[in-house]
Amino acid sequence: MSLYNLNKAREGEISDLASWYADTFCPSPQPVLPQLIAEKLGITYSLGDYKGKFDGLIENNRGFFHIYLHCKDTDNLYSPRLRFTFCHELGHYILDDHRNTLLLPGTPAHGSVTTLDSSIETEREADLFAACLLLPEDRIKRDLFKRKFNFALVDELSRKYNVSLTATLLRFITLGNHPLMMVCSQAGKLKWLRYSNDFPFQRIHTGPGNEIPAATCAGEYFEDGTKYLNKSEKVFAEDWFVLWKSGDQRRQIFEHCIYQESQQQVISVLWET
Ligand SMILES: [Zn+2]
Repeated sequence: MSLYNLNKAREGEISDLASWYADTFCPSPQPVLPQLIAEKLGITYSLGDYKGKFDGLIENNRGFFHIYLHCKDTDNLYSPRLRFTFCHELGHYILDDHRNTLLLPGTPAHGSVTTLDSSIETEREADLFAACLLLPEDRIKRDLFKRKFNFALVDELSRKYNVSLTATLLRFITLGNHPLMMVCSQAGKLKWLRYSNDFPFQRIHTGPGNEIPAATCAGEYFEDGTKYLNKSEKVFAEDWFVLWKSGDQRRQIFEHCIYQESQQQVISVLWET
């Protein structure tokens, strides 16, 4: 299981840099288009079927950079997944220390797979850069002003900015607009979790084999296939978490599941009612 935490200062630095690129090359109300930023930076790119070896790859050819984007049948430059990958690869160019590494003689071309849970720090940095570029801080804060958190709001912003739900949620977590946790479980077991600093519970009630608790929406899905489609369900904090204070037992939280069936995966989004 991996936890997603870069230090706060680095997070801020990456977010500011991404905002600068978004505002300079794609100022609001224009959408952020990674292809446009690549062009302005003199980076060439191509889309092709790279047989799933990577989602994106950046290559340095004597100081000229080229980005390869793995493209499935249904993908194009406007599909959320490809946009994220493109921005991730741009991050490897724009973040100074990443680019400097690519410029070292003998550094192999850098291929990335978009998993959002990489244990490699530079990958997590590039993921964060991508999320911040596609969802620039000022624009998102304006959209969130005086809005109450619920899943419809995540959905609305994900459509408005043409970014996947999971990337939008990660952005909510770093912006810290509302205490929030994402739990990813695969084949019934806890895979990764991420949460905002102010989320009140952290320790999940896992079984001896790292199984997620059965009395949760994700647990039900792995148990018998029950799905709560487009619904935020109320569950008790004690269903998910190990609690230390007796007063916490009856605290309720919302759980909203995103089912990623091809990967046997469920992402539970948890927040307090
Ligand atoms: Zn990468």
